[in-house]
Amino acid sequence: MRKRGSQIGSSPAQKADYRVIVIGAGFSGINAGIRLKQAGITDFVILERADDVGGTWRDNTYPGCACDVPSVVYSYSFEQRPDWSRSFAGNHEIHQYIRRCVEKYDLMPWLRFGASVQQAVFDDRAGLWRLTLEDGRQLTARAVVSAVGGLVNPAYPAIPGLETFKGQQFHTARWQHDVDLRGKRVAVIGTGASAIQVIPAIQPTVSRLKVFQRTPAWVLPKPDFAVAARTRRLFARLPVLQRAVRNGIFAASEAIFGPLVIVDSPASRLLERGAHAYLKRQIQSPALRRKLTPDFHIGCKRVLLSSDYYPALAQENVDVITDAIVQVTPRGVVTADGTTHEVDVIVLATGFRLDIGNAPFEVRGLEGVSLSDVWARRGSKAYLGMAVSGFPNWFLMLGPNTGPGHTSVLVYTEAQASYIAQALKTLFERNLRYLNVRQREQDAWHDALQARMRHTSWTSGCRSWYLDANGENHALFPGLASEYVLRAKTFRPEKYDLTVFVPGVEESAPA
Ligand code: NAP
Repeated sequence: MRKRGSQIGSSPAQKADYRVIVIGAGFSGINAGIRLKQAGITDFVILERADDVGGTWRDNTYPGCACDVPSVVYSYSFEQRPDWSRSFAGNHEIHQYIRRCVEKYDLMPWLRFGASVQQAVFDDRAGLWRLTLEDGRQLTARAVVSAVGGLVNPAYPAIPGLETFKGQQFHTARWQHDVDLRGKRVAVIGTGASAIQVIPAIQPTVSRLKVFQRTPAWVLPKPDFAVAARTRRLFARLPVLQRAVRNGIFAASEAIFGPLVIVDSPASRLLERGAHAYLKRQIQSPALRRKLTPDFHIGCKRVLLSSDYYPALAQENVDVITDAIVQVTPRGVVTADGTTHEVDVIVLATGFRLDIGNAPFEVRGLEGVSLSDVWARRGSKAYLGMAVSGFPNWFLMLGPNTGPGHTSVLVYTEAQASYIAQALKTLFERNLRYLNVRQREQDAWHDALQARMRHTSWTSGCRSWYLDANGENHALFPGLASEYVLRAKTFRPEKYDLTVFVPGVEESAPA
């Protein structure tokens, strides 16, 4: 979109002092920018460390990359696109959609690329956040919206000898398109949401595909199809029809929440039976079927949608290897049974470091307290997943416990963008020095969520990125998306300590 480090547009992106700084230009940050403008707050900038908008849809370009949530729901509710080419759009089309939103809502002048935040420190007296970028530039803002995403930075596995491998190796989120896989022997490590898209895409072209599976996932068929030109024309002419389809799909996804999340219920057992039947239909070999049969409750890890993953695994040039990987040598992957699996390329489909649990850069709030330290000591907590006590005027998008396991994440981020815009309007209209969420409100919110976690499939005994090192889920919201939207609908100042500027007095005064 723009070259790294270039200055975009006119004034908004070129100053040093702002009312609001948004960090990140993915779906969340762009949504925040749109809402801020609509709320009449135009003195802001969106900082993006890369050279383009799009976040995860800019970074993930692996073959087969697509969304596993239907596009009519995985798009902004206020910006429906009638011409999605497929029911589940591919990454390029989603990336294009985000770019088109940037153009339509005229956000380019507010974007600054190549701007990687290194540190953010709150200056209590001035009521200002002071940000330092990686290149040393200093910016200030009355408020910050951190929209940095949760699954951004690749998790590289700690496999002994990985660095000694003589062939090529890369992570799915850093796909090397200049590496030609045709006729090559390829290892894919991991069988999560990214792997099940890559594997069918590359299987027909490689000579041998070795899939290293640590845990088999629950897989359900994906109703992916090309959207007929007739339907697209109809959606363009009758947006209300597309909205009805969107609402229907959203309602269906909400209905699946119970079977997926309420552990061992009759509905979840029914879903498991359906998934077993699907596996049986797709995989004829009993030995392979046994390897692919999960031994944990459905919903505990993300349920994967694919209609071409099992058929790809059943092909003659594919081996599913379930022996543990013990090391990588210059020639290939060695498993616990002593076999060296010689390959030319290793694809690491090993997921992401969950950056909800630690701030992605140094954030220091009141009295210089570090957000990472607070979260490391007490777990990642934020009121509504957006506000952290002691970090005034700092708002998170997709913060702790605001991810879904069953529907579109954009439903949550839209609610957040709107809530944050309301909060910032209050801050500026009342000329407050800062808004600081009350500790007891944050604790009450967090404790109530964690109490509900105990009854979910997420904590029913599997390993997943949903859980932190203590086995606690600080990633997902344990309720319907509609509940979250309702709870985050209205900014309620009484949940916050409001501090005003008092002329001539440096200490805070309650509003
Ligand atoms: P993931 O779900 O975390 O899967 C990582 C895979 O790598 C797992 O199978 C894991 O095994 C395996 N693994 C990790 N370290 C390993 C090691 N040292 N040795 C062997 N295997 C190892 O990551 P992902 O597939 O990239 O997906 C992450 C998330 O991104 C998804 O849950 C989803 O939220 C999002 N995503 C979404 C879409 C979409 O279509 N919307 C597509 C891709 C990703 P274990 O299961 O045993 O840990």
